[in-house]
Amino acid sequence: KPYIPKIVEVNYIEGSHDQKWSSRDFPWTIKLEANNKKVFGNHSFRPNQREIINATMSGCDVFVLMPTGGGKSLTYQLPALICPGITLVISPLVSLIQDQIMHLLQANIPAAYLSANMDWPEQQEILRELTSDYCKYKLLYVTPEKVARSDVLLRHLDSLNTRDLLARIVIDEAHCVSQWGHDFRPDYQGLGILKQKYPKTPVLALTATATASVKEDVVQALGLVNCIIFRQSFNRPNLWFSVIPKTKKCVEDIDKFIKENHFDECGIIYCLSRMDCEKVAEKLQEYGHKAAFYHGNMDPAQRASTQKQWSKDEINIICATVAFGMGINKLDVRFVIHHSLPKSIEGYHQECGRAGRDGQRSSCILYYSYSDYIRVKHMISQGVVEQSPSVSGYNRFNNSGRILETNTENLYRMVSYCENDVDCRRFLQLLHFGEKFDSANCQKTCDNCCTVNSFVEKDITNIAKQLVELVKSTGQQYSSSHILEVYRGSLSQFVKRHRHETLSLHGAGKHLAKGEASRVLHHLVTEEFLVEEVKKSDIYGSVSSVLKVNESKVQNLCLGGHTITLRFPSSAKATKLSKSGATPAKGSLTSGRLSPPRVDTPAQSNSNVDLNLSAK
Ligand code: ADP
Ligand code: MG
Ligand code: ZN
Repeated sequence: KPYIPKIVEVNYIEGSHDQKWSSRDFPWTIKLEANNKKVFGNHSFRPNQREIINATMSGCDVFVLMPTGGGKSLTYQLPALICPGITLVISPLVSLIQDQIMHLLQANIPAAYLSANMDWPEQQEILRELTSDYCKYKLLYVTPEKVARSDVLLRHLDSLNTRDLLARIVIDEAHCVSQWGHDFRPDYQGLGILKQKYPKTPVLALTATATASVKEDVVQALGLVNCIIFRQSFNRPNLWFSVIPKTKKCVEDIDKFIKENHFDECGIIYCLSRMDCEKVAEKLQEYGHKAAFYHGNMDPAQRASTQKQWSKDEINIICATVAFGMGINKLDVRFVIHHSLPKSIEGYHQECGRAGRDGQRSSCILYYSYSDYIRVKHMISQGVVEQSPSVSGYNRFNNSGRILETNTENLYRMVSYCENDVDCRRFLQLLHFGEKFDSANCQKTCDNCCTVNSFVEKDITNIAKQLVELVKSTGQQYSSSHILEVYRGSLSQFVKRHRHETLSLHGAGKHLAKGEASRVLHHLVTEEFLVEEVKKSDIYGSVSSVLKVNESKVQNLCLGGHTITLRFPSSAKATKLSKSGATPAKGSLTSGRLSPPRVDTPAQSNSNVDLNLSAK
């Protein structure tokens, strides 16, 4: 029976700006600081840790957005230690849980976990302990399945609750709640039952992934009330980003890159399929690297042993599917290479986030080709893409049209990231997380900031007007990728089904390269002419993103009282391209850059037509 969450009014408070949570005058401050030093061996708190702890210990529901490695665990383990009662922690993976418990026991903090694949007597012993008034455990870890499937567990939680011993409920990796995130896991959606049953127990939800829509989804599904949100910048200054055109010689390029930049250092190469992992690993071995592969088709012992060898530096390079990585605790990963296109920007950001956790400079290289886009798209539609292990059971749901649509939209955004050869990579990634990043702060640590030296301002007012008009005339109910398709004259099935090919603006932007059109559209969103609205599509509170027009801002534009300009690169390559008038072949290099391939549309164009003149 599916659990249907109640729709609740949610007030967000951005806690990160509220000074009161930084106070050192809470009744628990002294104990907090002492235990942070004595038990956890930390000299101080990291950004937001003190604030989060103060908010959750004050009894508020708290939602934490903190990058991987930021130190989320401490924000519940420390309160668990100094509060009476037990903290319930929901975590997606048994291997993650075991790792955490090992660390807790080493620090002499009593903790246990329950999972379905444990012996029953062992489970019973832990449950028995929970019924004791002198229960020794400070933390109890469970998987979401356990909450969804085990009445015995719920009865024990009831009992703890009536005895006022249920101190706090922690939802780790909370983005798994959301179908909009990259790690959707159905059992997480049922966790809303906890807030319903135990409304007085504070909930602490933690994630390193949150777009506005994921945040919305999580808060909704968990039923958080007057939730305080702590977010901090997701920028990782020590990671260097680039996107490189993928050729047939990709593995040779990787070999060369590693030898020149990270010889004998440790890294991860993400591949799309299991076969790719094995092939890439084999080739790298031939080139003399200590490489191994890792994917979901290996038996668990083999996987564990490979991971261990890598942790101990017996292997430098691991060629893996996204099954590898969640919860790995290696600090000196010097490079993360994507051998093929990641499936979403969130996923990409998280995978890259495994590099450089010690703060040292590290490289994130993505090899992009248009044919990989087609391949991933096909795999998504067939439901055969390997997911990170938090989403076992995912494929059962994969045939649902809505999830397919979400996945396709996520992939589409990833493609547009790769094809953008103008804007700062950090700016683009962080924009996706709702964070405005000033490209000047990149300090030339991404490929685009390094190669694009000079810009020309171009007038895009006409294009802007057309796009706004198109959003209006299609009823403000489509995603940005769909609007772009129509604007550039796509004749896809979806466009036809909605009879968009009959619109006068269908194809009005066919003279624009895809990357250009999508940059203009993005710009309209960041300048708030258009709003990307999160739409709840059904009772489960699942969401999709839809473009709407911001009337007040647009009025001025349509009356002609406003010009919009956007920077375009005025590099040597641009002039060369427009002079020759030729459409470069897919994947060809121009001044070391990838020419933007065309996606899903018959519209062919030179990429540097004068925007202002050619717009109608
Ligand atoms: P996250 O869950 O946010 O990815 P973790 O909680 O696993 O991060 O913490 C990452 C690492 O940072 C751990 O090794 C942890 O011991 C360390 N750490 C956390 N807080 C502090 C602190 N205040 N001072 C020093 N190290 C810390
Ligand atoms: Mg964590
Ligand atoms: Zn940059």
